[in-house]
Amino acid sequence: MLYLTRILDFSATHSYTIPAWTTNKNKQVFGPCSNQNGHGHDYKLEVVVKGPLIGETGIVMNTVDIKQKVNQFLKSELDGKFLNKENDYFKDHIPTTENIVNYLWNAVENMFDDCTLHRIRLHENHYLFAEKEDNSMTRLTRQYHFCAAHRLHSDHLSDEENIRLFGKCNNPHGHGHNYFVDVTVHGEPDPTTGMIIDLGEMDHIVNTTVIDKFDHKHLNLDTDEFRDLNPTGEVMAMVIFNMLASKIPNLYKIGLWETDKNYFEYLGN
Ligand SMILES: [Zn+2]
Ligand SMILES: [Zn+2]
Repeated sequence: MLYLTRILDFSATHSYTIPAWTTNKNKQVFGPCSNQNGHGHDYKLEVVVKGPLIGETGIVMNTVDIKQKVNQFLKSELDGKFLNKENDYFKDHIPTTENIVNYLWNAVENMFDDCTLHRIRLHENHYLFAEKEDNSMTRLTRQYHFCAAHRLHSDHLSDEENIRLFGKCNNPHGHGHNYFVDVTVHGEPDPTTGMIIDLGEMDHIVNTTVIDKFDHKHLNLDTDEFRDLNPTGEVMAMVIFNMLASKIPNLYKIGLWETDKNYFEYLGN
């Protein structure tokens, strides 16, 4: 099976407002997104299709066809619009990223003749995206950040073996990174709020459980979690997953960016 991605974009205005609720209740649940006059995003949309090569052409599908067909839909239904007011679907459904992804999945799913839609991923900004993939539930990923020092060192290896394995990362005084943590939850959007998870609550849990503990710390020296554990990217992704799993029941995955070039994922057992 071959997979092919085409990236498209559009901009739109939206407001998270349930008309039957008071202004106060909307504000309480949706925060600044509840501004009835709306706010906007430049959305980035990734359309991934899968299929075999067509005959001798060497392609799965012409990416220009994806661009034209999806763009035609985006232009007529979403681009440049106030979604709550100008799109019939979002008159009754809050245009959360999760709901927009499901809406796009349903619109694009049967658009192509020769291949199958594999994934729709919609970036609201550089730290929030929602996606739907094959028969999966909808997923929402939010990115968090902390800076920390660490030393890669295993007590089970000799000093020489540690240096051979970890090189300069074994420096006894440590070194540091700008870590980015992708927290992914999955589920079906709530029929009323359009959300898989209350983002304010998720921010609070991740910040108090993980970020406040690790930010501006030396992981080996200042944290209980890594006093006896080697803080490699792999181990850190597992530890962060386990720290959050009991507090976020629909946690799906932790992705840890140690640098732009080193990325680790853990999906639990
Ligand atoms: Zn928004
Ligand atoms: Zn390092």
